[in-house]
Amino acid sequence: MLRALESLDAMHLEGQRALVRVDFNCPIAEGHVTDATRIRAALKTITYLRDHGARVVLVSHLGRPKGKVNQDFSLAPVRDTLEHLLGTPVTFIRDALGEQTVAASRRLPRGGIALLENIRFNAGEELNDAAFAATLALHGDFFVNDAFGAAHRAHASTEGVAHLLKPAVAGFLMMREVHFLGETLAKPKRPFVTILGGAKISGKIDLLDALLPKVDTILVGGAMACTFFRAMGLETGTSLVEEDRVDLARELLDRAGKKLILPKGGIVAAELLGGVTCQVASRDQIPAGFGVYDIDPQTVEIFGAHIGRAKTVLWNGPMGVFETPPFHLGTMGIAQAMAAATERGCVTIVGGGDSAAAVAAAGLEDRMTHVSTGGGASLEFLEGRPLPGLVALHQDQP
Ligand code: ADP
Ligand code: MG
Repeated sequence: MLRALESLDAMHLEGQRALVRVDFNCPIAEGHVTDATRIRAALKTITYLRDHGARVVLVSHLGRPKGKVNQDFSLAPVRDTLEHLLGTPVTFIRDALGEQTVAASRRLPRGGIALLENIRFNAGEELNDAAFAATLALHGDFFVNDAFGAAHRAHASTEGVAHLLKPAVAGFLMMREVHFLGETLAKPKRPFVTILGGAKISGKIDLLDALLPKVDTILVGGAMACTFFRAMGLETGTSLVEEDRVDLARELLDRAGKKLILPKGGIVAAELLGGVTCQVASRDQIPAGFGVYDIDPQTVEIFGAHIGRAKTVLWNGPMGVFETPPFHLGTMGIAQAMAAATERGCVTIVGGGDSAAAVAAAGLEDRMTHVSTGGGASLEFLEGRPLPGLVALHQDQP
């Protein structure tokens, strides 16, 4: 069991400097944060620390500056948004290294907040360099990791520093992610239904393998379904099919048996283009020269009925090219069915970056039990892989 920030005594917090790894890897355009979801998700931990008199030093990465200073990846816009959301000034520390900057974090008053510049401006971060981790550790008296989205990386600010600062505990967001993606799905209320979609079957094989023994039903959509169609000997036209995974798809179909349910048909078009003319085709009548870019309305209904009977639903991967209308309807239909399921007491969990974006686009984030902020980390976690950022944290005996 991870040790939670909430379990620490007041003496660990009052006047102490908390070095907090957050995931502020937000989309930024023209110097402004365009989606503050990840910043909002960290507020509970930050506020808790402030309320308990801690001094808060925040660390995050943004994009891939590859170990070099590059102002295109500066966290300065994030600082502005954070100040706005908290209603309090946030000291911006431009250089994570050096005695002077450590002095800046030492000068923080109780309840004060500082944000270090993009930690990936330093080559030592992604190398998990021991000396760099030691310098970073000078900024805190203890460590809080709330960056679930970066927990699958063994970097200095996620893993290295957790070995140097004690206690090393999980923040509220981290605990929430582990609760829903871990504990809840390990002992799911049944029926447990998973919806899998997205572009490629190759990226989801380990996930399928991990989920198959646990779930009652797997509903498959997205381009992934087309590789299964091919394995069934069906015409798939110009759809995205992974030729080198057709054998694997056949093997999975055998192994999954009745658990795995494929679409009855799809929305097909001559090309993938916004506003293009499209039509419904049953899966055994996909015209050559056409591609499948969404699931058909009958499948939305069938999948919806499964979701309607479920007590736990996990969704990863859009049902179609939801970014390009008219191919968004299948994904939106599933999002609606999940929202309705949440309302009647079903636990609904969404993992994966694009899936989370689809739920946000549908305006249904608040109507899911949990939408993971984790992206790639949520997939690795669901596959059952140990995440280095979690493993390095303090573990309490159960
Ligand atoms: P997540 O990030 O939620 O794990 P993925 O990255 O696996 O999801 O897949 C998302 C992508 O899959 C989206 O960009 C979407 O456009 C694409 N996709 C879904 N269905 C199809 C399809 N039928 N043809 C081509 N691309 C598809
Ligand atoms: Mg994705």
